[in-house]
Amino acid sequence: MKIDCHIPVEERALTNSFLETYEGYVAQSTLISNEVEAKKSKEVKLFCRFCKRTSTEVTFKEKTHVIPKSLGNEGLFSDDECDTCNRFFGEFERNLVTYLGTFRVFNNVKNGNRIPKFTSANHNIEIRKIGEAVTLIKRVSHDEDINVNIETGTFDINIEAGRYIPAYVYNAFLKMALSILPTQDIGDYQQAFKYILDKKRYEYYLVPRSVKVVESDVEYQWPFAVLYKKKPCVTERVPLHIFCVYVKNLMFQIIFPLSRQDIESGNGEIYWKDAPYLLFGSNHDNIIRSRHEDELNSLEKQKRDNSIHFKFDLSVLDNLAAIDAKGFLDNLE
Ligand SMILES: [Zn+2]
Repeated sequence: MKIDCHIPVEERALTNSFLETYEGYVAQSTLISNEVEAKKSKEVKLFCRFCKRTSTEVTFKEKTHVIPKSLGNEGLFSDDECDTCNRFFGEFERNLVTYLGTFRVFNNVKNGNRIPKFTSANHNIEIRKIGEAVTLIKRVSHDEDINVNIETGTFDINIEAGRYIPAYVYNAFLKMALSILPTQDIGDYQQAFKYILDKKRYEYYLVPRSVKVVESDVEYQWPFAVLYKKKPCVTERVPLHIFCVYVKNLMFQIIFPLSRQDIESGNGEIYWKDAPYLLFGSNHDNIIRSRHEDELNSLEKQKRDNSIHFKFDLSVLDNLAAIDAKGFLDNLE
């Protein structure tokens, strides 16, 4: 099946530079479910690609997702992840969900068949969806968390963000990359598999824990993942593989660390190139809103600001006979 891929005009220079070095290697979509095939295959393999154990030591009963279910993956399952590893990786996924803050509720990222509700860390604010179109922001307590100022035309919602471990957020992305790595490449990434399971010694591994985030105006219904591979002719000190995962209107890009080639060639302080934001099935231009890098090296818990700030045009108020902002907010409850 041929799928048309469009490069938005503002991404073309970056794309040309990237494609001098990398080529597409693996792409996995969650659109068509492989649930039945993965289950059957798992019952035959009974081998875990992460811990290398077999059914004599661990069980293989659970459904294991290549991209977390909490990112909207309902259809893409792996056939070689044991239940013990699946539960171990759950902690990374929970940190990723906290890191994403209000993103999932505002962007309709389903977990199973529902959009999960967001609750602020202090339980003062709840955000949930009624259908996909209506967002309900509920103030549970404490008036100071929602402020409307008619004089200045501002509307602020203070949302107490949850705390997450940045390194675990990175590990959640790395786990997806390790899951889609073709079987023939697993041997080259033994150090990466060792790293992700070696929780007590994360600081001993040279892993560039960071994620690049591209935000666009275009939203994909289902998440998908792409692995790029360095072209054989390239001599630049760039990592062998780059991993990208698309979730709704965001693309996350990480370096796939610790390949045998990168370790042997001393690619410790390798630099990385920005991967292009690809558009499938639509051909819009000027859709990139932002591109930034989140450093995720720390093993200490941290939080970030999830607050929402609106500034409304005060001239709008001239056209209104009366506005009862406080009453408006109360009506939201
Ligand atoms: Zn395992």
